[in-house]
Amino acid sequence: MEGFANERLGFGKMGYGCKHYRRRCEIRAPCCNEIFSCRHCHNEATSMLSNLLDRHELVRQDVKQVICSVCDTEQPVAQVCTNCGINMGEYFCEICKFYDDDTEKGQFHCDDCGICRVGGREKFFHCNKCGSCYSIGLRDNHLCVENSMRHHCPICYEYLFDSLKDTTVMKCGHTMHCECYHEMRKRDKYCCPICSRSVIDMSRTWKRIDEEIEATLMPEDYQNKKVWILCNDCNDTTEVYFHIIGHKCSHCKSYNTCTIAPPVLPQ
Ligand SMILES: [Zn+2]
Ligand SMILES: [Zn+2]
Ligand SMILES: [Zn+2]
Ligand SMILES: [Zn+2]
Ligand SMILES: [Zn+2]
Ligand SMILES: [Zn+2]
Ligand SMILES: [Zn+2]
Ligand SMILES: [Zn+2]
Repeated sequence: MEGFANERLGFGKMGYGCKHYRRRCEIRAPCCNEIFSCRHCHNEATSMLSNLLDRHELVRQDVKQVICSVCDTEQPVAQVCTNCGINMGEYFCEICKFYDDDTEKGQFHCDDCGICRVGGREKFFHCNKCGSCYSIGLRDNHLCVENSMRHHCPICYEYLFDSLKDTTVMKCGHTMHCECYHEMRKRDKYCCPICSRSVIDMSRTWKRIDEEIEATLMPEDYQNKKVWILCNDCNDTTEVYFHIIGHKCSHCKSYNTCTIAPPVLPQ
């Protein structure tokens, strides 16, 4: 009898779902009372609505009813269909009302984040200062920025906190999608789009610029010209000799600087 029940639970596994998830149920959206495969399907559909006021996002925790894809029975949220006895999702989270048959993704619910994540619980830790889960490699190895994941990716503008794509933490502590980060690097951009700090150790590049500057004499008219600069890496302002190739921060030696108006001294 038990063997039969287990077999029943697995019936139709991986056979149903949408482009986002394999699952054996659809959800009734609590906000608009319509049926969708998942909340991403809902959000995609409603974001296309012509009337701006109709656009809205589904609050996953509010889902109350689901429809079994095997027997079409609408019922309260639960893992097993009350009518046909199948698992509507091999992975099921009661808090997020989340179903997924593809357990290879390593889904887990983080109580501190309040949502389900993928990638295996053992590979993540929750940073209380940043207010999000990060991969184990970042433990004691990142600059904490309060709520650093509660913003949109500075490249593609998707909200990062519950994005399905991998995110990376830059040296400054700001975050963006891994793929957006690599795209940015490919375009020879090496500073954070949010705070402009260098995202990697640039000392070799700065050395090369040192050499270039040494080899490039400025015309006589400019040789004594000085400018004020603000350093994007250490935030210091200093006065340096003007040069067409770049301006080096006198404090931290970075060339990631911009010229600013001279400070106004109190009279
Ligand atoms: Zn979907
Ligand atoms: Zn059913
Ligand atoms: Zn969850
Ligand atoms: Zn977390
Ligand atoms: Zn942190
Ligand atoms: Zn992005
Ligand atoms: Zn930054
Ligand atoms: Zn500096």
